Amino acid sequence: MKYISTRGHEAPITSAAAIIRGLALDRGLYVPETIPALPLSLRGANATKQSGTPTPYAAVAHSTLAAFFTDFADDELNACVTAAYDEKFDAPDITPIVKTENAYFLELWHGSTAAFKDMALSILPWLLKTAARKEGEDKKIAILTATSGDTGKAALAGFADVPGTEIIVFYPKDGVSVVQERQMLTQEGANVHVYGIRGNFDEAQTGVKSVFADAALAEGLADRGVRLSSANSINIGRLVPQVAYYINAYAKLVAQGEVADGERINVCVPTGNFGNILAAWYAKQMGLPIAKLICASNENKILTDFINTGVYDTRRDFILTSSPSMDILVSSNLERLLFHLSGGDAERIRALMGGLEENGVYDVGAEAKSSFSSDFYGGYAEMAMSHVSLARLWREESYLMDTHTAVAYAVYMDYRARTGDTAKTLIASTASPYKFAGSVAGALGIEAGADEFATLGNLEKSTGIAVPRSLRGLEGKPVLHDAVIEKTAVKAAVTDALFA
Ligand SMILES: *Cc1c(COP(=O)(O)O)cnc(C)c1O
Repeated sequence: MKYISTRGHEAPITSAAAIIRGLALDRGLYVPETIPALPLSLRGANATKQSGTPTPYAAVAHSTLAAFFTDFADDELNACVTAAYDEKFDAPDITPIVKTENAYFLELWHGSTAAFKDMALSILPWLLKTAARKEGEDKKIAILTATSGDTGKAALAGFADVPGTEIIVFYPKDGVSVVQERQMLTQEGANVHVYGIRGNFDEAQTGVKSVFADAALAEGLADRGVRLSSANSINIGRLVPQVAYYINAYAKLVAQGEVADGERINVCVPTGNFGNILAAWYAKQMGLPIAKLICASNENKILTDFINTGVYDTRRDFILTSSPSMDILVSSNLERLLFHLSGGDAERIRALMGGLEENGVYDVGAEAKSSFSSDFYGGYAEMAMSHVSLARLWREESYLMDTHTAVAYAVYMDYRARTGDTAKTLIASTASPYKFAGSVAGALGIEAGADEFATLGNLEKSTGIAVPRSLRGLEGKPVLHDAVIEKTAVKAAVTDALFA
């Protein structure tokens, strides 16, 4: 299986080469030439039971990766998945499913930084190291990452002190939660660099993308023995590991008798950069029985509007909400979906993305819109609504979710009421409620403490739900990074981090 750029200017390359490069040189995203079918071993109950014994998560991840990354040997993938999905996770089955009256919550946040980004970023460093060896890459790999809060810490934790790598993270200085920021600023490791940007996430992401697009810089870096790569979900090495948890979840529901083998379920995802929900769409294309993909947004509802009209229009205000990881107007991974749906029409993708860069808007037209309308439903929930949902689920069913998951739940309940579709539904639960303690406490009417960390304690005391291991003691850790830069200074910061 080879990988090609959505903008069509590059010859097909191996998955290992695509993982190393991150973003294609023509600024497109790498996609598999075709989406593989679900191997027999991953169908229904087969995926969780092999010869009568339950299969660990790592085995499902292995089979999923093997279907996409065909240039990796079996033992190479084995080493990657076993190193990734181990005791770093505080749940033995890695991604537990919690059943409530109306939905199943797929908890993706039991890894080392308490957000779903750990699912992919625990394995990306291993994939990258293996890929570098396979491709005979002799340069140091510098990972550039723009973050809306959660990717940053997960990438820092994943790459800290990994030999042959440097990890550089840019986050919007006033656009992340107190806990998210503190997690990043206290990251140890000789190869880690963290910068706050005076700007929002889109500006951070644009800054990073422009560094990737700078051919002269890349040449200069190559002369000094450095190659740039990315830990954002623009890297195919992040997307594919996310397909595995949907396959695993479906198999688990079948094995537990919750759904019949082959029964179609809905999947609802709180969406930002469109990576998580695209992974679910890949799973569906592979043959996983998924009916609707419910794309949930907050006030930054550009995806809701796009799914309903076919017009992607960024000419609107950027709104800061209590679900900061979804405060995004340029959802990078949508480009991959559009490429696949266009039948691989790179010229068309170049025209659409050119329109986006020049005018901030594109229109895919009625025909293209109809091609995703059957798969996707788009809805949004404003803060007040999602906080009501959060409080109600806690009060009525003692299930506590974070503010992002609450957006998804609110959108799902609205979808159900509007459409009458009561098919079983899996909701991606993307973060521990404690990462957004202030907002969660506020939604529940729990008194705020003197600072966010005191609020965290209050939340634990009144709910009786334990703070995850990875967030304990955060307030006492020394702050190791304090650089704040202008949004135009990303390139300078990169050379500074690498050579100063
Ligand atoms: C990153 C993130 C999202 C959005 O996921 P995308 O793959 O970017 O769509 C949602 N919730 C949380 C908590 C996140 O960290």
